[in-house]
Amino acid sequence: MAQRFRSLLLFGPPGVGKGTQGTLLGHIPGLFHLATGDMFRSLDARSELGRQFHEYSAKGLLVPDELTIRLWEQYVRQRIADGRFNPASDLLVLDGIPRSARQAVAMDTHLDVLGILHLVCEDQEEMIRRMKGRAEKEGRHDDADEAVIRRRFQVYQAETAPVLRHYDDALVHDIVATGLPIEVLHRILDVVVPVATRQCCNPLA
Ligand code: ADP
Repeated sequence: MAQRFRSLLLFGPPGVGKGTQGTLLGHIPGLFHLATGDMFRSLDARSELGRQFHEYSAKGLLVPDELTIRLWEQYVRQRIADGRFNPASDLLVLDGIPRSARQAVAMDTHLDVLGILHLVCEDQEEMIRRMKGRAEKEGRHDDADEAVIRRRFQVYQAETAPVLRHYDDALVHDIVATGLPIEVLHRILDVVVPVATRQCCNPLA
């Protein structure tokens, strides 16, 4: 893939609401939402890749970087080929990648990052409650077990949070992730609308 995709990153700990907000944003024409969690869960659980994903996610661990990036590249290529993602007109809203320093470096060849939506919630117990709730609704094995959830928070702090330092501070927008989903969406749109407008209205962009 030669081109770099104009992108917004949804960033934040597990359970903070990236998936909810990403799905909402993905319904807006001109934005294409891609969540790596969804990408992995769409794998056939009996395939070799599906088996590997299950092995890591069930323990609350990240899938190895090289495998993640390779799969992501393949997934994006498919979305372009089937016409769902048009890089010429769509902004890519990425959720769940990059999640490690090595992934951030590898993704630099693919992404032109226009903004980072850093969802912030100080209340870890609230996030754990949300995750247990969605475990039942969505049948997610990695959300059902509290020990696995706590492990994912540790992995987030150790491996993912430092990814923010890879980017220019000016790109990072802290967004309070508590309140109603529509309130959080409102705060996100305050950041996204100017970015999207600049991209669409500037003929030189
Ligand atoms: P959450 O945001 O609640 O952590 P996701 O649905 O984004 O959940 O991801 C579920 C699991 O998929 C992760 O715990 C991890 O095992 C795997 N995964 C998702 N994205 C990545 C990534 N970029 N790198 C490595 N593993 C990933």
